[in-house]
Amino acid sequence: MKFNNVTVAGSGVLGYQIAFQTAFHGFNVTVYDINDEVLEKAKAKFDILANAFKTDLKATDEQLAATKAKLIYNADLAEAVKDADLVIEAVPENPKIKIDFYEKLAKVAPAKTVFATNSSTLLPSQFAEYTGRPAQFVALHFANEIWKHNTGEVMKHPGTSEETFQSVFEFAKEIGMVALPIYKEQPGYIVNSLLVPLLSAALNLYVNEIADIETIDKTWMVATGAPVGPFGILDVVGVTTAYNINKMAADATHDPTKIKAVEMLKTQYIDKNKLGVATGEGFYKYPNPAYQDKDFLK
Ligand code: NAD
Repeated sequence: MKFNNVTVAGSGVLGYQIAFQTAFHGFNVTVYDINDEVLEKAKAKFDILANAFKTDLKATDEQLAATKAKLIYNADLAEAVKDADLVIEAVPENPKIKIDFYEKLAKVAPAKTVFATNSSTLLPSQFAEYTGRPAQFVALHFANEIWKHNTGEVMKHPGTSEETFQSVFEFAKEIGMVALPIYKEQPGYIVNSLLVPLLSAALNLYVNEIADIETIDKTWMVATGAPVGPFGILDVVGVTTAYNINKMAADATHDPTKIKAVEMLKTQYIDKNKLGVATGEGFYKYPNPAYQDKDFLK
């Protein structure tokens, strides 16, 4: 199945990036959100993203004008999806909100419409029954700053049809993603299945006083050739996100190392507003973090 008309539901951090990226690649895109006021805020992000596309992708003014012409905005769900071949859902990461959204969407979307969720931590099978079309439902997971970090993880739930999976996989390629097929449900997809344990192991080494932050990063960088180590990555992800993930794990497991890690993140970083790249300081100081010094790896 070839998609032409795409509706992106939720115009927040990720939703708007998905809408922009999709329009940039020539699809007709409708941006849907809960009211016109929120949609006005989304429209205001156009210029910010256009500048990022100019700087990072060398996008031309003509391409950006064409992108703008492909984007329309609608706060009426039935109207927003009436011609949709594909709805990409990027509403808040809250099961209740998502279920409520799918129940409403199922009532108004045409029978042909395929649904894809961009949820980072919730599994598509949690929502499949509410879509009214489990075979036409799949996960399509993007990373923040999708034009640069262009992974498109396409993940089946047990009821996803092969046709839906393949169509969304092709679509991901058509909008400039490196499309990554995931055949079975996996919390965290591939990227977070790899990243979360790495970052957690780095925090464990540090709070158990095995080694200091720079040594842990340096080891990883020298040994694997990676341009950044786990604490450098944590600064990009944001200390608050790391705190939230570790807090959930600490509450669930009562693991003393996790509890120590959570306390360390709170008292030494969050309470001091050292939240990572976003606030100019986290484990390193920005814009020139020590791990980029030419002597760091010596
Ligand atoms: P966000 O809070 O920035 O945006 C959510 C948007 O959804 C808001 O504009 C909100 O008004 C809107 N919304 C709320 N209720 C709605 C409803 N019933 N119908 C339509 N829109 C509704 O959230 P986000 O960071 O963009 O995350 C959205 C989804 O994308 C989540 O599932 C998240 O896991 C996933 N995701 C986020 C990131 C990230 O880095 N932020 C990365 C990958 C995936």
